[in-house]
Amino acid sequence: MKTERRIGILFLICATVSTFAIAQTRLEIRSPESVFGFVPGSDRQLIDYEQLVDYLLDLSAASDRIEMREVGTSPLGRTMYVAFISAPENLTRLDDLQKINRRLALDPAIPSEERVGLVRDGRVFVLATLSMHSGEVGPSQSLPIYAHRLATTEDPVVLTQLNDVVLMVVPCHNPDGMDMVVENYRKYVGTQYEGSTLPRVYHKYVGHDNNRDFVTLTQEDTRVIAALYSTEWYPQVMVEKHQMGSTGPRYYVPPNHDPIAENVDEGLWTWSAVFGSNLSRDLTADGLQGVASHWVFDDYWPGSTETSIYMGVISLLTEAASCRTATPIFVEPTELSVRGKGLAEYKKGVNLPDPWPGGKWSLGDIVALELSSIESILGTASRHRAEILEFRNDLCRKEVEKGRTEAPYYFVMPRKQRDPGELAALVQLLERHGIEVDRLTGEAVVGDHHFSSGDIVVRLSQPYRAFVKEVMESQRYPERHYTPNGELIRPYDITSWSLPLHMGVCSIQVDTRSEKLEALLAPVTGEDFSPDVTLPEKVWAIAYPSTSNQSYKTAFAALKAGLKVGRLTHPFGAKGDELPAGSFVILAGSASRDQIHRIADQASITPRVFESEITVAFMPVRLPRIGLVETYFHDMDAGWTRYLFDTYGIAYRVLHPEDFEGADLIGDFDVIVFPDASKDVLTKGKYKRFDRYVTSDYPPQFRQPISKKGFGKLTEFITGGGVVVSWGESTGLFTEGLPLPKDGDDSETLELPVRDVSEDLTEVSVPGAFLAVDFTPDQFLTWGMPQRGGAFSRGAPVFATSIPVLDTDRRVIAVYPERDLLLSGYLAGEKELQNRPVMVWVRAGKGQLVLFGFQPQFRGSTAATFKLVFNSLLLPPVK
Ligand SMILES: [Zn+2]
Repeated sequence: MKTERRIGILFLICATVSTFAIAQTRLEIRSPESVFGFVPGSDRQLIDYEQLVDYLLDLSAASDRIEMREVGTSPLGRTMYVAFISAPENLTRLDDLQKINRRLALDPAIPSEERVGLVRDGRVFVLATLSMHSGEVGPSQSLPIYAHRLATTEDPVVLTQLNDVVLMVVPCHNPDGMDMVVENYRKYVGTQYEGSTLPRVYHKYVGHDNNRDFVTLTQEDTRVIAALYSTEWYPQVMVEKHQMGSTGPRYYVPPNHDPIAENVDEGLWTWSAVFGSNLSRDLTADGLQGVASHWVFDDYWPGSTETSIYMGVISLLTEAASCRTATPIFVEPTELSVRGKGLAEYKKGVNLPDPWPGGKWSLGDIVALELSSIESILGTASRHRAEILEFRNDLCRKEVEKGRTEAPYYFVMPRKQRDPGELAALVQLLERHGIEVDRLTGEAVVGDHHFSSGDIVVRLSQPYRAFVKEVMESQRYPERHYTPNGELIRPYDITSWSLPLHMGVCSIQVDTRSEKLEALLAPVTGEDFSPDVTLPEKVWAIAYPSTSNQSYKTAFAALKAGLKVGRLTHPFGAKGDELPAGSFVILAGSASRDQIHRIADQASITPRVFESEITVAFMPVRLPRIGLVETYFHDMDAGWTRYLFDTYGIAYRVLHPEDFEGADLIGDFDVIVFPDASKDVLTKGKYKRFDRYVTSDYPPQFRQPISKKGFGKLTEFITGGGVVVSWGESTGLFTEGLPLPKDGDDSETLELPVRDVSEDLTEVSVPGAFLAVDFTPDQFLTWGMPQRGGAFSRGAPVFATSIPVLDTDRRVIAVYPERDLLLSGYLAGEKELQNRPVMVWVRAGKGQLVLFGFQPQFRGSTAATFKLVFNSLLLPPVK
């Protein structure tokens, strides 16, 4: 509500100011050069986010062809905008046009005469999101030029285009990152580090992975952008603007490469090809060489803003070749090469009709490509205005009809779940995506399935059917080959994003249509999932089941507030309604009812309340002091871990590799967390590319490794009683023994009874899939977990344990089962993974290590395994 009111006020101000500006004279419109002192795209010059937005705000005040609207806030608090650029007549009726968009996108039953009118009156909305990856500065830097050009042009062709099309430009998808990169560039310009990469993630948390968040919508900026296409403006066309490497083609345009998502309607693929082919033609006609299509980037994986294609939007991707931020480079002709799908040689071909010959490459070249690109998209949208609007509504009709006539018909999620908090989160997420979610108002029997009142039903007969199907089912990678029986076309990114599996929510796919069930559906309301936290006058304790992630959130909040918290060592209560082992009991002690209430309010589930003392065995829980290791090497997994901890109210301190040597690890920490990070970066400050160590271009203070002395301190921390939690590649620090701190002799190590055997498993290929995992029951670490569950795996590491020697020990906490490993995604070489340990607890002296072979918090999307991380943080000391 707040946002709407603010937008209203802003709109009023804009309207007043622009009327005033028109009354003055067109001369009020200032060129980018006159404002910034240089033409954007000039060598070694960048504008920052504030300059960009201020320029556009001034432009919108002076021109009746531009209107800026606030649309939300970035994770670090910067205001995000959309610049609407169109003919004045369209901008004055923007809200009416928005209503037309909504009708065409969501109403499958518009009477034909009315539809003719909507198509006649409607305009094509093209949403462009610029520079989400902040090192890829070109798209945002180019905006002032084309905004100014579109505001001032008298070219009748362009004026016709502005009449047909409303361009919605997000000036920068990632304002926080833009300012970080520009500041870093300005700091080092003129030094040897000019143009070097920003040493850290260019975002509050996730850096480059902001492009991987459009199914789970965890980040604030992702939510702002997703809402624009899914629930607010319903643009018919969307383009996401990026940059790529420096030594291949100059500009990438659709159509993308195989495989493509099978749930997406064929019409969307052909429309994106129309836009893409026109881009190729127009850019080449403008004399811009090196345009490539049908290469590298596939259209199978959702996650970027292109996810909008599952919601009926013609979604496009462009990628310009990079220079060094704003510093020009020279590319030798012999350095030009291509690899990946679609192009095997850097030669003239149908996917690269006019190869660029090499030479100087600068930000100005990128800006020129962006200007031509946006003109081309505007032209295509204008030429096909009516067809595109009709197509959008045809698609809506088609998807709704498919949902009525083609299985699956529904996904039903029983109300009773192991983790009811995740069911609530999943429903909320679907609603955020604009999905209609219902609940059953009575019992229903469909085939062998008996559903109860309150169960959640997601119908397939809705406009965003393709999205519902894609995120609710489990994935099967569409295997396509370059030649018959030849090489498989490898996935571009991960291959599993099934929300029920990743979140640990039970969901049943129903392939039989039932009118009886449909008659019992009512939309879910906010009250369906609001927890009951009414407390009696007197409270002895409140309790939360170990099966719910939300329970951990309240436990951490209670510990932080100084309350006593314990975990049940055995199940408690009547069968069917029992609190399982590991459940949290938060003792009220001397806390007031209000204080208890505030803690209970942290969670989205209802607590069990005990008015008087119960006799039950529980172990005390301490608030752990956590160190979280993050390198400067754009460490996205550490960023995601910070995000997870912040979301669950878990306090931590970031430790950089160079901090180990001087830190008082034993005095300051109980637990040190090593998220997935390269062992080479951690121990050498370098990364490996094709078996060769590469020194990054960061200034030296950002590429310090954990020194030998630092590592010795880590060993002391562990053997002295500390806990190390590690997953992914960083487990390599511990699977080859711990270095023993001894002066003058660095060869001695403390052997741990665990090693990584993944290098021996040569057949295994898991680009990122959800695999079945068996968890060892009755272990502290698996409290709250099902015995058979699943985890997000990238295939390595895989462990083997051995009989312990000296003062060490080990327990296998999770193994891949003996068969049927693949739950969702792509997996090759299953046999080699069967029955292998994939999570191990190790003791060394008084210390403990928890090593994960899967990714327990992958991109904030795998709530099914968050509890394993939380349990690791809460491990009790070794007796
Ligand atoms: Zn990018």
